[in-house]
Amino acid sequence: MPAEIIDGAAVATKVRAEVAIAAAALAKHGIVPGLTVVLVGEDPGSMVYVASKEKACLEAGMHGETIRLPASTSQAELLAVVDRLNADPAIHGILVQMPLPKQIDSQTVIRRIAPQKDVDGFHPVNVGKVLIGDRDGFAPCTPWGVQVLLEAYGVKTTGMECVIVGRSNIVGKPMASLMVQPGAHADCTVTICHSRTRDLASHTKRADLLIAAIGRAEFVTGDMIRPGAVVIDVGMNRVDDATAKAGYRLKGDVHFESAKQVASLITPVPGGVGRMTIAMLLKNTVRAAEMTAPAIRAGA
Ligand code: NDP
Repeated sequence: MPAEIIDGAAVATKVRAEVAIAAAALAKHGIVPGLTVVLVGEDPGSMVYVASKEKACLEAGMHGETIRLPASTSQAELLAVVDRLNADPAIHGILVQMPLPKQIDSQTVIRRIAPQKDVDGFHPVNVGKVLIGDRDGFAPCTPWGVQVLLEAYGVKTTGMECVIVGRSNIVGKPMASLMVQPGAHADCTVTICHSRTRDLASHTKRADLLIAAIGRAEFVTGDMIRPGAVVIDVGMNRVDDATAKAGYRLKGDVHFESAKQVASLITPVPGGVGRMTIAMLLKNTVRAAEMTAPAIRAGA
């Protein structure tokens, strides 16, 4: 029987509705959760992402703004902008859109963002908090979104063999941090694979839960998947296609047609994990705002 297909759009809509309720509760106390995205340069992909983040904020009743800086911006100039946002009490979340131009060191910028405003969850303080299971930390939006999808579909992850393909700081490693924690929607035995992994298929075939974050279109095929596995495809790859209106199609890292014949539950691309990332960014921003007003958070 073909796999059930996870509806990421529906789950993301639900999360965004919850965020709107939380934002409205904060507004009653005079707090409007605010996210500022800083975009340096004119990378076309980044410009699309940034516009959709700003729109999503406004739809949730939050304050969303984008600071657009020229590609020639120096590291010192960008750090000065981050310092100003760190000091601004109306801004609860700061996100510097990656990739940055060559003259700027992204790690230096990430470390300059105040950890309590780092809604991307990339600051070492938040990376550490997620790893030690401190719930006050901000988990990176994409892996957290994956976990919320698993929860929404009632996947009993306890004791599962979870194999993650990809070890980036944005997806693979934080995904492992989340799934290895004790507790609900985690408690997995985690394996992380990467380009130096020997006999990749021998690992993927063991997975009860297979998470692909590789950046290679349709790389994981049905014959690499254990029958009945849950398959989460984080990949977003633009593949040229003259018949598509945009001139390309979005493909995941998993070969969907062969994988869905083997898996029990699977995310499509598009319409799967991608829809969750912005929803979780909004959720992190509302959490950041709530943390500035602990009495409201406790329902006082
Ligand atoms: P990176 O390029 O940073 O990391 C890719 C990882 O895949 C690396 O760890 C790399 O290994 C590993 N890899 C590459 N080739 C192979 C191979 N042949 N066998 C095994 N492992 C391999 O990508 P990201 O983590 O940033 O993104 C991964 C995918 O997820 C991309 O398609 C990206 O577009 C998508 N993405 C989607 C998001 C969403 O919102 N849905 C958000 C973020 C990313 P090594 O470390 O050895 O090089």
